[in-house]
Amino acid sequence: MVNIDWDALTFQFSKTKSVIRFKYTNGAWDDGRLTDDYTVTMSVAANVLHYGQAIFEGLKAFRCKDGKVRIFRPDENGRRLNSSARQIVMPEFPVERFVEACRQLVADNIEYVPPYGSGGSMYIRPVMYGTTPQIGVNPASDFELVIMCMPVGSYYKNGIKPVDAMISRDFDRAAPHGTGHIKCAGNYAASLLSGKTAKEKYHCPVALFLDPGTHTYIDEFGTSNFLAISKDGKYVTSLSESILPSITNKSLMQVAEDLGMPVERRKVRAEELADFAEVAACGTAVVITPVGRIMDGDKVYDYHLTTIGPALKAIYDRVLAIQHGEYPDTHNWMVQVD
Ligand SMILES: *Cc1c(COP(=O)(O)O)cnc(C)c1O
Repeated sequence: MVNIDWDALTFQFSKTKSVIRFKYTNGAWDDGRLTDDYTVTMSVAANVLHYGQAIFEGLKAFRCKDGKVRIFRPDENGRRLNSSARQIVMPEFPVERFVEACRQLVADNIEYVPPYGSGGSMYIRPVMYGTTPQIGVNPASDFELVIMCMPVGSYYKNGIKPVDAMISRDFDRAAPHGTGHIKCAGNYAASLLSGKTAKEKYHCPVALFLDPGTHTYIDEFGTSNFLAISKDGKYVTSLSESILPSITNKSLMQVAEDLGMPVERRKVRAEELADFAEVAACGTAVVITPVGRIMDGDKVYDYHLTTIGPALKAIYDRVLAIQHGEYPDTHNWMVQVD
């Protein structure tokens, strides 16, 4: 057995027994292989290093109450990987093979899956990139898909704490007619400076981006979607061309509906922040991060929260219960590994 202090886990990279690697050459993916080799060797002229042809995904596996390990909605991540791939001219990877590859990887690393009740989970990180050496701006013809996995801890060991956010008006997360809806490395590179500025200058851990065309509507946070609960109990989330279609948000919307909460996916004006009862960020890593305050220049929107609000708590608890096999998986979200 591996020797891991499950209680000390955070959200950090660590090596496990294996990664699974697939190569694309001459127009076809190979059969892939499990290996302990985490190293990538490529030409300095490789396409990814110059023109950033790289996409990634993030998903999780959980040790459930019945002792089995299950992955949360890997088919959704497989489909989104392909949608990203199409949009930056990379080859698609069949969704069924993607799901199978995730299962194979987690099965091979099963000892690294945190135990039920520890609050931890197995984070799965697929990454695909172009390796063809070239100088002209063209799509690569050779690619690699590597999927790695690592145990991560719960963000909320000491209770759920709201974070502060600030509206980014100096920097956009995406170009007006650009690539904000693609899970690609380029978007992250472009968001690093505003994230750094928010932290250093304003002591805010999180930046909230507006639509890059008019700076009127709320897009999303740097690494997670925006959602809010209105004072009359509706689930409100942004509709925008330049945000990443979050699988967590999709799942939360479904659960909100299951709980009888009306769901509104629409354009959200920044001034509406004054009208919401609860505001949060959502994504695979944390599920829901409540936002306590949002700064917009001298303006402060304060939600007077010391923990997660009641409506979001109800949704959060239900999603976690499904992920850990404590509540019936009526939407068939969980894929069994072992
Ligand atoms: C991955 C990601 C999210 C969250 O998506 P999930 O599928 O819920 O993890 C949100 N915004 C951006 C920019 C992302 O890259």
